[in-house]
Amino acid sequence: MPSDEPLTAEHVLEFPGGYTRTTGPVIGRFLTELRAGRLVGVRTAEGRVLVPPLEYDPATGEPVTGEYVEVGPAGTVTACAWVPEPLDGHPLDRPFAWALIKLDGADTALVHAVDAGNPKAVAAGTRVWPVWRGERTGHITDISCFAPEVTKIVSPVRSAYTLRAGGALGVFLEGIGRGVFVGGRCGGCGKVYVPYRLSCPECGLRIAERTELPGTGTVTTFAINNLPDPRAPEVPFVSAYILLDGADVPMIALVGGVPAHEVRHGMRVRAVWVPEDERTPSMASVRWFAPTGEPDVELS
Ligand SMILES: [Zn+2]
Repeated sequence: MPSDEPLTAEHVLEFPGGYTRTTGPVIGRFLTELRAGRLVGVRTAEGRVLVPPLEYDPATGEPVTGEYVEVGPAGTVTACAWVPEPLDGHPLDRPFAWALIKLDGADTALVHAVDAGNPKAVAAGTRVWPVWRGERTGHITDISCFAPEVTKIVSPVRSAYTLRAGGALGVFLEGIGRGVFVGGRCGGCGKVYVPYRLSCPECGLRIAERTELPGTGTVTTFAINNLPDPRAPEVPFVSAYILLDGADVPMIALVGGVPAHEVRHGMRVRAVWVPEDERTPSMASVRWFAPTGEPDVELS
């Protein structure tokens, strides 16, 4: 019984060795300049610059002038379409954008691929630069693609410096090396400052009296930090102002031994020191302050 299906046959039109055609003088000039790493357009009788160049001005049908003008190399995307899954024969094997690119100095746009990494990185208005192939043959693929203009860089930053503690801080850190907090008591107003300092910010007097404070205190305010810090054991970590018992100003230190979300304003804490043989005159000798378990303090 005859079928209702139409008869079909698969055909492939292919020139396995490539289809050779002549370029004509205008496109030939464009491709020859490309091989030399330059982008040129041709000027029309009306003074517009066509890129890629054409023999005739598409607007008027008039022959072009034969004056070639170097354009680009950078240009601006005027329209684009994202290709999430490249096909065989596409210029890139990863997602890219087909774009109309108006090179600087040109009045028309050419089509090329933009290797932008993600669809948000390319849009009308994006500035792009050609990425040239190492070996050029005089073909549009001498430009392997365009890439967005470089607008930011990541550069390694490292500064090494020697911090000289100075007199007052030196006294405080020397105490830390021994496992004690050294403060200074003002002879005028009686306030106790820790770390130890040489003059009273309240009354301006020179501080002569040193006093050793216990390692216990109260959290007056704190911050939960979610960015890693080489001085902290892990993230999140808590840094806090701790008012040592007997001091009138708080000092900043880490709080540990407790989940970050359980740290409270008014929580009682005690310094946890690194083992004695590891102590140095540096704040690294105080591992952190940990809760004592005493009831919270009402802070005014
Ligand atoms: Zn004072």
